[in-house]
Amino acid sequence: MSSDQQARNIVIIGGGIIGSTAAYFLSHHASFNRERDSITLLEATKIAGGASGKAGGLLALWAYPNCIVPLSYRLHKELADKHGGAERWGYRAVHCGQIDAKGKASTNSNGSSKANGDSVSLQKRTEKAKGLLRAAGVPKDLDWVDADSLVGYDEMGTPSTTAQVHPYQFTTSMASLAEEAGANLVYGSCTNIQISDDTVTGVRYKSKDSGEEKEIEADTVVITAGPWTRTIYPSAPISALRAHSVTIKPSRPVSAYALFTSIEMPGKKGRRGQTVTPEIYARPNQEVYACGEGDQLIPLPNSSDLVKVDESRCQDIVDQVNSISEELRDGEVTARQACYLPNVTSGGGPLIGETGVKGLLMGAGHTCWGIQNGPGTGKCLSELVWDGKITSANLKSLDPRRYM
Ligand SMILES: Cc1cc2nc3c(=O)[nH]c(=O)nc-3n(C[C@H](O)[C@H](O)[C@H](O)COP(=O)(O)OP(=O)(O)OC[C@H]3O[C@@H](n4cnc5c(N)ncnc54)[C@H](O)[C@@H]3O)c2cc1C
Repeated sequence: MSSDQQARNIVIIGGGIIGSTAAYFLSHHASFNRERDSITLLEATKIAGGASGKAGGLLALWAYPNCIVPLSYRLHKELADKHGGAERWGYRAVHCGQIDAKGKASTNSNGSSKANGDSVSLQKRTEKAKGLLRAAGVPKDLDWVDADSLVGYDEMGTPSTTAQVHPYQFTTSMASLAEEAGANLVYGSCTNIQISDDTVTGVRYKSKDSGEEKEIEADTVVITAGPWTRTIYPSAPISALRAHSVTIKPSRPVSAYALFTSIEMPGKKGRRGQTVTPEIYARPNQEVYACGEGDQLIPLPNSSDLVKVDESRCQDIVDQVNSISEELRDGEVTARQACYLPNVTSGGGPLIGETGVKGLLMGAGHTCWGIQNGPGTGKCLSELVWDGKITSANLKSLDPRRYM
């Protein structure tokens, strides 16, 4: 660390997983000197209040884009080893598969997720049921999907290529570890990025506590505002898609599987029902997460605390997963929630790097793999800030200047 280096003032806008991992890697870089430099993580509402706290948390070596996936997958493991991630944020390796199933009607008339008095235990652990599971190619320990619902199983990932974190716990831990290393956490909504002579000079923001307009001088500003990126940088090709999810406490502990599904729901009067595709992830500590498809019904609100949850969409997810699992049917729904995915309207995403304005960087548009690709993004942005170039991966194809 050279002591004659000029002081750096860095502001990160947005405390989702991308901003929080950027704050972590910026504050853990060898060039950061907390006596001389400042790193501010500016968050409008709540750390991990958006998609980063409500995502599934699947990590996979087979995710995309492959210029960043291997780096980020490895960093997840290293961070978990270094900071006790298994206990702190539920990091663990998992199996992953695609199941085809025929669902059964499972909710009672008042929409409760509990099995009604007519439901009969499938006694999946009988020899007959085990035989059905084996015939469908289902691994032995995946015993929490009803044997008589399953039509087929295809392996998508093994514990050496697939893992998971609890995204809320991971993101908030990254922000806390950054704070411990000297970063400042400020609650306020960025209203303007100040630019002079094509060079960034600071940000203006409205304080969450006082409502006052304030200013932070900065030589470096990193935009990590997820689906809100356009509200502070209008030319960014980023859109927002709402998605609902639920968490369920199953009636007994379930094995570590992340399941992509195709479920034919029961139709009326013996007709074929709709085919639905919820994703179902078993988590440690007796929690199962499930999410459904996105919708464009309500545009992105101004902040994460104003996101509207459509209870009927959550109930659809509950009904769908209940239709194929006794353990979920007999379980307890513990959260019904919604958030907005940051999609890209140009390129495949994400956009990581410089914007064309000196000192203004971006890490946004991570679509459905932002939890997987968060640490890699944070690490590469920290290299760009402190070393002037990205060395851990070749991210030329994700350079924001190609798309804006
Ligand atoms: C249902 C669902 C399931 C998912 N499952 C997975 C999965 O299993 N694995 C995976 O890898 N990815 C998954 N994802 C994708 C992942 O959640 C996102 O890619 C990721 O969370 C995006 O992180 P972000 O930090 O860019 O955005 P966000 O989490 O949206 O964070 C942006 C932050 O910026 C703040 N902000 C906005 N405007 C301002 C402003 N003006 N000033 C200050 N702060 C501001 C917001 O308050 C927010 O906290 C899933 C997404 C959804 C919707």
